Amino acid sequence: MSGIAGIYSREKTHVSQIIYYGLYGIQHRGQMSSGIAVNNNGFIDYFKDLGLVHEVFPKEVMDRLRGNIAIGQVRYAFSDEGKDVKNAEPLVVGYRRGALAIVHDGSIVNFSKLRDRLEDNGAIFQSDLDAEVIANLIARHHRDSMEEAIVKALEEVVGSYALVVMTKDGLIGARDPLGIKPLSLGRFGDDYVLASETCAFDTMGAEFIRDIRPGEIIVIDENGIKSIYEKSTHRSLCLFESIYFARPDSKVDGKSVYLARIEAGRILAKESPVDADIVIGAPDSGIVAAIGYAEESGIPYAEGIIKNRYVGRTFIQPTQELREQGVKIKLNVLKENVEGKRLILVDDSIIRGTTIKRTVDMLKKAGAKEVHVRISSPPVTNTCYLGMDTPNEENLVAANMSVQDIKDMIGADSLKYISLDGLLKAAGENNGFCRGCFTGKYPIER
Ligand code: SF4
Repeated sequence: MSGIAGIYSREKTHVSQIIYYGLYGIQHRGQMSSGIAVNNNGFIDYFKDLGLVHEVFPKEVMDRLRGNIAIGQVRYAFSDEGKDVKNAEPLVVGYRRGALAIVHDGSIVNFSKLRDRLEDNGAIFQSDLDAEVIANLIARHHRDSMEEAIVKALEEVVGSYALVVMTKDGLIGARDPLGIKPLSLGRFGDDYVLASETCAFDTMGAEFIRDIRPGEIIVIDENGIKSIYEKSTHRSLCLFESIYFARPDSKVDGKSVYLARIEAGRILAKESPVDADIVIGAPDSGIVAAIGYAEESGIPYAEGIIKNRYVGRTFIQPTQELREQGVKIKLNVLKENVEGKRLILVDDSIIRGTTIKRTVDMLKKAGAKEVHVRISSPPVTNTCYLGMDTPNEENLVAANMSVQDIKDMIGADSLKYISLDGLLKAAGENNGFCRGCFTGKYPIER
């Protein structure tokens, strides 16, 4: 999973600052590496490294990164390879028609097949990035215009992607034909911006224009914006965007993430009521659903767990050992609110079960009389190969245990999940969603 952003300006000559703020806005989508590339009169300069946006770009680097077009990425590491800086983006390459820079969010399902074929034909790879396969596919069509080359390259790609490509003349934004990954278009004065989530426009000071449609490819250059391609049969936006990935102050495909989570909490309260004194949310992504649960149930919402804001998200950290270390310093119980109380603890999902077990344990040790766990997504029973780093099924607790056994394992007094129908209703049924990790039925075969 990644967050990506891009800007094209006709007049400004130092737009990397704007991308920097945009990446800050989508830092929650990836904390392993950060990178920005700029186009300065056809010459691409870039800087990328492991770390958060504010750690990676010192002032002297930002002063150096001058140009009127820029793209950037914050990236989550899927595996040990992802922790290598060679797999940070933007990917910058040179080919027959000049330099290109690419940022990508998603997962190319036919990556190995495409890469094998390219290598058989002499291509050399320097990273494990999907973006490098896409760059090679574009380079093979160097006799075509850049627009035609990108269309032809993406016609060969199967999987999930939101892409921003920077050429010497402008930006190209693309979204996979099912719209699994989000990408939005905004305006910054007279200039145009692209970002994974609309909350990045707020940090940039830009206005939202519209979402890039599933299967659409757009070009932004000195002539403005033009949509050059669109091919989609149906939508399958990742349902986890609404549950967990996206920030509540974003809109994804026209739906407010905040309102979707409130609604999920309300539906959860209707489906699985329980008598209790207060409702608390697991920070951060369970909090909005907890507010919805409290509103619907009439049981007061209260802060029960305080999060140390200076520690990364546990689920985002790549190894189990790091996750376990992280959680010890990350969450603390507000004893005054939980001692002697019957609590409803709302969280967005249970993946391995270790974090929720630890949280229930902390609440009980702080004196909670009962802890009733309510989850605003259905049991995650299948792994994802479309861009979310869920563990293998052997490590997904709901793939291996019944709800009753999970309840016992985490030490809760009761455990209930929202139904899939309830979640779809909250997320906005009209959008069309991928729900593979809940059903094992994916919109793209592996
Ligand atoms: S399988 Fe799950 S996490 Fe993966 S794209 Fe589909 S809904 Fe999202």
